[in-house]
Amino acid sequence: MNSPEPIQSSELYEKHSVVHNKRIDGPFRRFKWAIMAITLTIYYVTPWLRWDRGPYAPDQAVLVDLANRRFYMFGIEIWPHEFYFVAGLLIMAGIGLFLVTSAVGRAWCGYACPQTVWTDLFQHIDRLFDGDRNARIRLDKAPWTWSKVFRRGAKWSVYLLIAFLTGGAWILYFADAPTLFRQFFAGEAAPVAYGTVAILTATTFALGGFLREQVCIYMCPWPRIQTAMLDEKSLIVTYKDWRGEPRGSVKKAQKNPGEFGDCIDCMQCVQVCPTGIDIREGPQIGCITCALCIDACDKVMKDIGRPRGLIDYATLDDCEHEAAGGEPKPVIKTLLRPRTLVYLGVWSSIGLALLFALGVRSHTDLTVSPDRNPPFMLMSDGSVRNAYTLKLRNMESRPREMEVALVGLEDAVFWTDSIGRSDAARSQTIEVPADATQPVRAYVLAPQGTEGQTFAFTLTSLDEQGESDRAETLFTAAGE
Ligand code: SF4
Ligand code: SF4
Repeated sequence: MNSPEPIQSSELYEKHSVVHNKRIDGPFRRFKWAIMAITLTIYYVTPWLRWDRGPYAPDQAVLVDLANRRFYMFGIEIWPHEFYFVAGLLIMAGIGLFLVTSAVGRAWCGYACPQTVWTDLFQHIDRLFDGDRNARIRLDKAPWTWSKVFRRGAKWSVYLLIAFLTGGAWILYFADAPTLFRQFFAGEAAPVAYGTVAILTATTFALGGFLREQVCIYMCPWPRIQTAMLDEKSLIVTYKDWRGEPRGSVKKAQKNPGEFGDCIDCMQCVQVCPTGIDIREGPQIGCITCALCIDACDKVMKDIGRPRGLIDYATLDDCEHEAAGGEPKPVIKTLLRPRTLVYLGVWSSIGLALLFALGVRSHTDLTVSPDRNPPFMLMSDGSVRNAYTLKLRNMESRPREMEVALVGLEDAVFWTDSIGRSDAARSQTIEVPADATQPVRAYVLAPQGTEGQTFAFTLTSLDEQGESDRAETLFTAAGE
């Protein structure tokens, strides 16, 4: 019996070759510059923005306050029991990605994904230190001289600095930024802060500096999901082979008129590609639709006096239509199609529902838990006492006087740990600190003969808002 042939490692893994993409200018490149500037500014600057919430709440505009279990975003404060707002935002982000993919293909990957933005940034650092594509290829192949060691060392130090700033900025979203910044460099921050920065520095350094397009092609699941979401009506970056083929240089085309297509096989589209692919081989998972090849090819077409758009954003339907001699369709028709409109409708409905819920939500909340053991106490005069733990929540960033009252359970009165039995009444006024949940022990006393029944506590803010909440509970009587 023959034993199976051993598998060669070369059959399992494609050999990695470093992508040295060429500098290009054009409308899509400038658009990418703008998106990069906006996203990086938002990421690094946001933790330093202040937002006045009065003396009782943090003044950081965007803050995930893990210690106090709050999420602040400008004028919005989300409490743990309101996690549905965060869930709603995550659902909106997911549907937003579906919407963008359905309308303009992998635009997220090409322009705004953090991996794309940081890789783009690191590729510009490469150009700054080592020059454009050809110089970088030469340097890569050159032996390790002191000059190369120095240049590599300097470049990797800048990588490391960017990676450190990236990790450093992340932790500032979880505590008061100026305070944590001081503590971090004074060695007084929590170990978890140093650990998080170390991990994020290492991952940014590795993913943005070295792994780059391999993350998009091999590691990220999103390209696979997107491929399933694209259809023949989605915009993708396409090479119009019916126009470009057969390829031939300008000279050949001049010598043999009518025999060659518009592609002069100059390889500019491949050389500018950040993932190093050849779009002329058709749509592929490595194409992040950054459109830099469109800029490159349009420039070539302009230089040789042929119409732009040999590589362009187009749908597969448009390609068939154009290949058959039809006119290109207006982009707006491609964008406004039923599937995209359905996504837009669902996305906006969730957004409006969240805004409505945010607008009408109460800043007052009451929960009640009756004591289970013992469920009641029989007093010497025959009256019955039940004890409860109330939680009075004040979600305003100022202390508020609140009235707690009994509804039902006739002739009963209550007092608390801080309001003595001598002041027992059917309603009590309690001050609840700003932005806090105040636990209160309440002792409800009902006269002899009162039967077990359901009743309610109400909580009403004694201010111009007059917000209220109500919680039903059970009164347990003797003999039950
Ligand atoms: S840039 Fe345009 S002309 Fe040059 S190889 Fe690419 S598709 Fe052909
Ligand atoms: S093929 Fe073109 S659009 Fe796709 S990743 Fe490369 S440069 Fe960007």
